[in-house]
Amino acid sequence: MLRNVYTGVRRSTNMVQMNGRRQFVAATTASAQPQETEENSQFSNLRNIGISAHIDSGKTTLTERILFYTGRIKAIHEVRGKDGVGAKMDSMELEREKGITIASAATYCNWGDTQINIIDTPGHVDFTVEVERALRVLDGAVLVLCSVSGVQSQSITVDRQMKRYDVPRVAFINKCDRMGANPYRVIEDLRTKLKHNAAAVQVPIGLEENLEGVIDLIRMKAYYHEGDDGENIIEKEIPDLLMDEVMERKQILIEALAEVDDDMGELYLMEEEPTEEQFYESIRRSTLNLSFTPVFVGSAFKNRGVQPLLNGIERYLPNPTEINNIALDRSNDEEEVPLKTDHDAPLVALAFKLEEGQFGQLTYLRVYQGVLKKGAQIVNTSTGKKMKVPRTVRMHSADMEDVNEVGAGEICAMFGVECNTGDTFCDPGVNLAMTSMFVPNPVISLAVAPTDTKDSGKFSKALQRFRREDPTFQVHQDPESNETIISGMGELHLEIYIERMNREYSCPVTTGRPQVAYKEAINQRSDFDYLHKKQTGGSGQFGKVIGYIEPIGDDEEVEENFVFENQMIGNNIPPEYITAVEKGFEEATNKGPLIGHQVQKVRVVLQDGAAHAVDSSEMAFKLASQYAFREAVNGANPSILEPVMQVEVEVPVEFQGAVIAGLNRRKGLIQSNETREDYSTVVADVPLAEMFGYSTDLRSSTQGKGEFTMEYKTHSPVMRDVQSDLIKAHQAEMKN
Ligand code: GDP
Repeated sequence: MLRNVYTGVRRSTNMVQMNGRRQFVAATTASAQPQETEENSQFSNLRNIGISAHIDSGKTTLTERILFYTGRIKAIHEVRGKDGVGAKMDSMELEREKGITIASAATYCNWGDTQINIIDTPGHVDFTVEVERALRVLDGAVLVLCSVSGVQSQSITVDRQMKRYDVPRVAFINKCDRMGANPYRVIEDLRTKLKHNAAAVQVPIGLEENLEGVIDLIRMKAYYHEGDDGENIIEKEIPDLLMDEVMERKQILIEALAEVDDDMGELYLMEEEPTEEQFYESIRRSTLNLSFTPVFVGSAFKNRGVQPLLNGIERYLPNPTEINNIALDRSNDEEEVPLKTDHDAPLVALAFKLEEGQFGQLTYLRVYQGVLKKGAQIVNTSTGKKMKVPRTVRMHSADMEDVNEVGAGEICAMFGVECNTGDTFCDPGVNLAMTSMFVPNPVISLAVAPTDTKDSGKFSKALQRFRREDPTFQVHQDPESNETIISGMGELHLEIYIERMNREYSCPVTTGRPQVAYKEAINQRSDFDYLHKKQTGGSGQFGKVIGYIEPIGDDEEVEENFVFENQMIGNNIPPEYITAVEKGFEEATNKGPLIGHQVQKVRVVLQDGAAHAVDSSEMAFKLASQYAFREAVNGANPSILEPVMQVEVEVPVEFQGAVIAGLNRRKGLIQSNETREDYSTVVADVPLAEMFGYSTDLRSSTQGKGEFTMEYKTHSPVMRDVQSDLIKAHQAEMKN
């Protein structure tokens, strides 16, 4: 039976009947909403958000509860529970096993009048590009943290990425029902480790097994949950016992806001108590400009605090009109063009995710401006291909709803479209592209082959699809060994794809040894004067090139890896051969003389040369250039560069010594070492080549209690002894 649950309810808060359940609906005081103009009022009830978290903080559980309370799903299933159903968001079998959400599915739900699109951000650091691509299409995010473990390594990486994309955040401290829950310590973490100006907007009513609900510091009311699934929210007065804590936390909240928000600062100086509206406005303003992070508390698993968090998402996270999005004009030297969240503007939509599901290929799109209409002509500006908008759907994880039109600011998925992630779709005649995304170069590669040669069709299909989904996953054929080489951002990154080949494509794969992506570099100018001449028998060859090579300095702001300058005066080399000369040098830099890796940042200056009336040819000049380069490199003090990773390890303090010793053994340079409470965080720069097998090592040296993340930092020169070992190994390989 439904009870009348509110006592002393303000008019702005009400209960509505939805899908047979009672819902808590936000107090929609006008001033708490975004500043409305006629233009953006139609968008003010739209939120595109991500939920990001360290593995196991409860992202999946929270997402499921959100879908439940908003009526999108009918029942709660325990995540990875025994009922075998599992949360809707975690649909890939492999994900469930790995315990990480790899695919960034998009789903939507309605909270009161507000439509919330949830874009599932993948958590694992090996998938940074996927995280970043998902972040790109978000307007705001919920950072989920565990009340016991606090800010963990992965949260730091994801948070850094969110900063890069200016994504406003609210924090949710989950698992307040767990033994040892301490939300205030986690807020301290947010302030010190993530450098957020964070403060609680709620105080938990009880902790651990006594967690009953939350106190809203702005409304100054207590909210309790009733019903089997905590679906009924009951508003009561704040228990006396908690009043001191509440007043203290409210003061902290005011001070944190006063620091960054002028209006609140003024009230603070005048010692005036802010009104509810003043609070809402101040929190919203400072959340949107990223100067403040409001912190919510609760327990997704025990159904505590999720509905108030939804109110917070609605109240404090931006609508699409409040985010500045920029496109590049391909017809005008990639000039930046601000986009407008407006249905009447020309269409600009970004493909941010491809998925091959049970229904065939799906392309997830964010429509930035204009309207995507089924059957209309659009153009993929990345390829110039025109097409008709096919069947379009809004996704609810594995289920879908057909839609005929998708407006500005929305997320949808199209069927059966050939494209890559990152492609932009526009109305014909519009040639805009969304800004290029930050795509790091792969740092590790692996030779792969189908275990059974009759699987080679599936094998190439799988590789092709992964490549289109993930720009950091690259595939190429080694011209010498004829092997297929896959490259990516780390061991696990490649492992996941190898497993997916097995599972999704029934194509077991045999792999070679992982290879680190070395580079070669030259360090000083070196002249060349090379004659390539073969004039015995048949048609001869003759080409002479004179000039120098030099490294392109970091300060030159040259983006290209290879620059060719022709400073020749006169026609000692006839103009028709110059392209061949350039090509010869460029090809030579692709396979460096030391170990056959690319030589980076080289400028070749051609000053003179010679040709022969009969025996000169393009081929002769190309070869002359290649030999000239190889010779010149010897005088250019060449070196080998290796990828260096920033490794961050978190361990209970008693294992700190073992971890540091282990990193030292792997030639790591310790950058910082911080101990808080009984946990240590060690950050070190370690050559990627030394990182193989580290996860096993760490597990055994810390009784399984250590965790680490790893992110590409830079390429640095290897030690001299390593360099000579690498060269020897390469020469031996070439002989074989
Ligand atoms: P994800 O890896 O971040 O998606 O985390 P999951 O949602 O899969 O949760 C990881 C584990 O923590 C599961 O066993 C959940 O049942 C559990 N969990 C999630 N939320 C809570 C919570 O609020 N309290 C407690 N005690 N456990 C939770």
